[in-house]
Amino acid sequence: MTDFPVHYRIEPTNPAAHLFEVQCTIIKPEADGQRVALPAWIPGSYMIRDFAKNIVRLWAADTSGPVAVTKLDKATWQFGPCTGPLTVSYEVYAWDLSVRGAHFDQTHAYFNGTSVFVQVIGQTDHPCSVEIVPPEDKTYQSWRVATTLPRLAAPPYGFGTYQAADYDELIDHPVEIGTFVQNSFEVRGVPHEIVVYGQVRADLNRLARDLKAICEVHVELFGELPPIDRYVFLIMAVGEGYGGLEHRASCSLLCSRFDLPRPGLEKPDENYRRLLGLCSHEYFHTWNVKRIKPAAFIPYELSQESYTRQLWAFEGITSYYDDLALVRSRVIDEIGYFEMLAQTATRVWRGQGRFKQSVAESSFDAWTKFYRQDESAPNAIVSYYAKGSLLALALDLQIREASANQRSLDDVMRALWRRYGKTGVGVPEGGVEAVVNEIADANLSEFFAQCLYGTADPPLDDLLAGFGVQFILRPAWGPNDKGGSVTKPNDDGVPALGVRTAARDTGAEILNVLDKGPAQAAGLAAGDILIAIDGLRANHADLSKLLERYRTGDTLEVHAFRRDELMEFSLTLTAVPDDTVSLSVSDEQTPATEHARAAWLHTARKEIEL
Ligand code: ZN
Repeated sequence: MTDFPVHYRIEPTNPAAHLFEVQCTIIKPEADGQRVALPAWIPGSYMIRDFAKNIVRLWAADTSGPVAVTKLDKATWQFGPCTGPLTVSYEVYAWDLSVRGAHFDQTHAYFNGTSVFVQVIGQTDHPCSVEIVPPEDKTYQSWRVATTLPRLAAPPYGFGTYQAADYDELIDHPVEIGTFVQNSFEVRGVPHEIVVYGQVRADLNRLARDLKAICEVHVELFGELPPIDRYVFLIMAVGEGYGGLEHRASCSLLCSRFDLPRPGLEKPDENYRRLLGLCSHEYFHTWNVKRIKPAAFIPYELSQESYTRQLWAFEGITSYYDDLALVRSRVIDEIGYFEMLAQTATRVWRGQGRFKQSVAESSFDAWTKFYRQDESAPNAIVSYYAKGSLLALALDLQIREASANQRSLDDVMRALWRRYGKTGVGVPEGGVEAVVNEIADANLSEFFAQCLYGTADPPLDDLLAGFGVQFILRPAWGPNDKGGSVTKPNDDGVPALGVRTAARDTGAEILNVLDKGPAQAAGLAAGDILIAIDGLRANHADLSKLLERYRTGDTLEVHAFRRDELMEFSLTLTAVPDDTVSLSVSDEQTPATEHARAAWLHTARKEIEL
C-alpha cells in the first residue's frame, strides 16, 4: 500500500481462463455512495466498446466488512454506505488480442487501462499508484513488464509499483507482460525502445536503424520532442493482424510477424514498408492528437461518444506525414513513395461513398459509420484517413505554391504545436483551417468548402504537375491491381463484375456490390455466393481467369445462392471505370519543378548532407 488517494493492484491470475484480478482501493470514499465506472471507449479508437462487459464479477469491502453494491448502468457501480478505505475487487476477462483491449494467456499478458482500471468518480484528477503483480505460477518467473507508466517502486522492466498523475495518464500507458525481445535507439538524447511480443525471427537492429531515421524526421519537423523521458514501441507480432494505437509516450502495434524485416533484407518490401508506415503514423500522433487535441477531447468524455468534425486533421494529416517521413528519411526512395501515395489515392477514387459523405461528416459519424462498416461502406462512406491524407497533401502543395516554396504544411504543424500542443489548449472546430489560411497567407475557404465539407475530389492532377509529378487515372488492370504501378501488364486487362469477393467452400462470396457496377445492375447482392459463370464453376481464386476471356458488352449468365435459394442473373459487362491512380515523375522537368519536388520530399538537402 502507498499513501496515494487511489491505489490499484492488478494480477494476471488465470491464463487458462484469461482472467486478471484487480483491486481498487479508495482511501476516502464518498461515505453514502461511492461510484466507480469503466470507460465505454478508448481514446484514439472512436467506437463504443463497453469495456465493462468484460467484468465477470465484482465485490467491495471496507474496514468493517462487505459493502453493498448497486449497478447503476451498463458501466457504473455504487457502493455504500461505507467508511474508508474502500476496496473494490473484480475479475476482468481478457481475450481481445487487439491494441484496444486486454489479452492474457500462457504466452503473455497485455492490457490498456481502459479495460482494467475503474474510474473513481469524483477523484479522477487525483494521483494513483498501481501495483503490477506477477502471476503466481513458477512457469512465468521469467516474465517482465514493459510500459511507460512512471515507476514508483519497481526495477526497470520489473513487477512492482508504478504511478500516474491522474486517471487520464493511468489509461494512456498500455502494459505488456511476458518474455519479449527488445532493441533501442536514441533521438535527441531520449531513449526510444522497441519491445516485441510473439514468435519472431527478425532483424531488430535494422528496424531500430530505420525507426530512428523516421523519428528524427518527425522531431525535426516539430523542432522538439514533447516532454517525455522515454518512448516505447510495443509491438505484438502475430500470424495475421494490423493495427496501431497512439499514446503519450508509447504506442501499441499489432502486425504480422512477416511484416518485421527478415535478416538480410535489402530494400524494404511491401510488408516492411507497411509496418514502418504504421510506426511512423503512431509516432507522429505523439504531437498530433495526443497533445494537439480537438477541444472536444479536453477532457475525454469516456462514457459516451465525443463528436468532432476534425478527425481529418488528426488522422488525415498524420496519415499524410507517416509515409512522407519514409521518403524524407530515405528509408524508401521517391519511386516507392509515389507508389504508396498512388495506392492511397486509388483507395479514395474507388469509393463511390466519397460523393455521398464529406470528410467532415465521416469524422463526425466515425462512431457509427467508419468504425462500424458494413457491406455498403464503399458506396456510402469516405475514409477521413485516406481522403484526409489527400487533403493534407493538397494543402501542403497549395501552401508551397502560394509561397514560392517558402512555407508549407510543416509550418502549419509547427504553429499548431506552439499554439495548442505546448499550451494544452484544445483546437476549436475549424481551428486547423484558420491556421492553414494564416500560414498560406491566402484564403483557402473555397477549397475547404468543396473538398472537406463538400464531396469534391482534391485537384491533385493540377497540383502535382507543379512538382513535376504526373497524376494518371486509368482503369484497373485486374483484381490485384492496387494502383501505383505505371507498368501495364502484358494483356488487355480483365473486365470487372463490380464486386469484392472472398473464397468460400462452395464458391465466391460477394462481400460488397459496388455502386454503378455490372453486378449491381444485374441484381446481385452482398452475401450471395457466386457458383457459376456461363455454366462454369466460379471460384474466388479463378474469377479473373474466367473473366479475362470476356470483353466489355458481353453478357454473362451468373448463378448464385442467396441464402439457400439458387438464383440466376444476366450480367452485362460495362467498361472498367478510371478509378486507379498511378503517379510518375514526368519526363518534362524544369528547374522549378525539380526544385519544388526536392524541397517537398527533402531529397536535395539530404544529398548535400551525404
Ligand atoms: Zn491514427
